[in-house]
Amino acid sequence: MTAVWQEQVSLKAYNTFGIDVKARYFTQAHCDDEVREALAQARQRELAVQVIGGGSNLLLTRDIDAVVLHMASRGRRVLSDDGERVVVEAEAGEPWHPFVQWSLAQGYCGLENLSLIPGTVGAAPMQNVGAYGVEVKDVFAGLTALDRETGELRDFDLEACAFGYRDSVFKRNAGRWLILRVRYALSRTLRAHLDYGPVRQRLLEQGVEQPSAQAISDAICSIRREKLPDPSELGNAGSFFKNPVVSAGLVERIRARYPGVVAYPQADGQVKLAAGWLIEQAGWKGYREGDAGVHRLQSLVLVNYGQASGAQVYALAQRIQADILERFGVELEMEPNLY
Ligand code: FAD
Ligand code: NAP
Repeated sequence: MTAVWQEQVSLKAYNTFGIDVKARYFTQAHCDDEVREALAQARQRELAVQVIGGGSNLLLTRDIDAVVLHMASRGRRVLSDDGERVVVEAEAGEPWHPFVQWSLAQGYCGLENLSLIPGTVGAAPMQNVGAYGVEVKDVFAGLTALDRETGELRDFDLEACAFGYRDSVFKRNAGRWLILRVRYALSRTLRAHLDYGPVRQRLLEQGVEQPSAQAISDAICSIRREKLPDPSELGNAGSFFKNPVVSAGLVERIRARYPGVVAYPQADGQVKLAAGWLIEQAGWKGYREGDAGVHRLQSLVLVNYGQASGAQVYALAQRIQADILERFGVELEMEPNLY
C-alpha cells in the first residue's frame, strides 16, 4: 500500500515546543515496509528525509524543505524470559511512557526511573535518555536500525551504540541510522536507584520505606509533574542545555565566588555542574522575551508561551549561553536537535 504524502503540513502538533513551521511533505510509517517505501520515494524525487518521533527534543527554527517521516509503528513483546531476566522489545513509534508503564504492570523492573519522559521508544537511544540516575544504556539489550546509506538492517549491541551522557553513535551520525525497534533487559528483582535528587525523600513522605518499582515510578511522576511544564499546556523540549562537565580547577574558581555552586564529581576527575543552577544564578529564571522564556520553576527549561518562533527561542538560548560563558567561563551546549 502506498503511504499518503501530505504537502505543506504544519508541524505545530508534532513538536512539544509548539513551534508553527511547515513541512514541505509529511508522511507516517507504521511498519518497516512503509519506512523503506518513504525513503525510496524520497530518493526518487531527490528529497531529503527528516525522521521524527514525538517531537519532544526538537527546536524547529524554519520550514522543513524535506519529507518529514513520522514514526508511527506500534508493538511490544517479550523476547525471552528465564524467570528473572526478561528481554522486551518495542517498535520505534511506541510512546515511551506507556511502554514504561506496560513493563511495570508486567512486573518487570528497570525502567521506573525513566518514567514520564515524553517521546518515542525509537528516539530514546538517540541521546541515551536519562533521569534520576538511570540511563537507557543501563538496561539496554540491543536495537535494530536501518542504514539509510545502504538500505541494510543492522543490530546494535551496547558497545556499538557508544552511549555517552545524552549522546550516542546515532546522535553523532545524525541522519544515517533509522531506529526501527529497541530491546531492554529488565528484571523481576528490583534494584532501586533512590539516591538521586528528591526521590527517596518523596517516598518517605508518602510513608513508603520498601518501594516497589511502580512506587518509584509514581514518586518520580509526581516530582516531575510539580517541577516540569506539561508540553500540552506550555511548549517546551525539557532541559534545553546539557549539564556541562568541566575541570575541577574551573569549579574551584567558580566556588571561590559562588560558594553554593551545585557540582557533582565524576569518575574521571571532572565535575558536572547543574546548568539550571548557573542559569538561575545569572538571573534568567522566569525571564520572558515576547513569547519565549525561561520557565519560572526550572531554569533549564526554555518555554514557548504561545506564538514564539523557533528563531526567537534560539536567540534567547544564545543570549543565555553568552552570559553564562562570560560570568562563569562555562560553555553550555544545547540539548534539543536544532533544525
Ligand atoms: P524527536 O524529538 O521526535 O526526535 C529527536 C531526534 O531523534 C531527532 O534528531 C530525530 O530525527 C531523531 N529520531 C527520532 N526518532 C528516530 C528513529 N526512530 N530513528 C532515528 N532517529 C530518530 N530527555 C531525557 O533524556 N531525560 C528526561 O528526563 C527528559 N525529560 C523531558 C521532559 C519534557 C517535559 C520534555 C518535553 C522532554 C524531555 N526530554 C528528556 C527530552 C525528550 O523527551 C527525549 O529526548 C526523547 O527521547 C525524545 O523523543 P522523541 O520521540 O520526541 O524524539
Ligand atoms: P534536579 O533534581 O533539580 O537536579 C539538577 C541537576 O543536577 C540534574 O540535571 C542532575 O543531572 C544533577 N544531579 C542531581 N542529583 C545528582 C546526583 N546525585 N548525582 C549527579 N548529578 C545529580 O534535576 P531536574 O531538572 O528536576 O531533573 C531531574 C532528572 O530528570 C535529571 O536526571 C534530569 O536529567 C532529568 N530531566 C531531563 C530532562 C531533559 O530534557 N533532558 C528534562 C527534565 C528532567 P543529570 O541531568 O545529569 O541527571
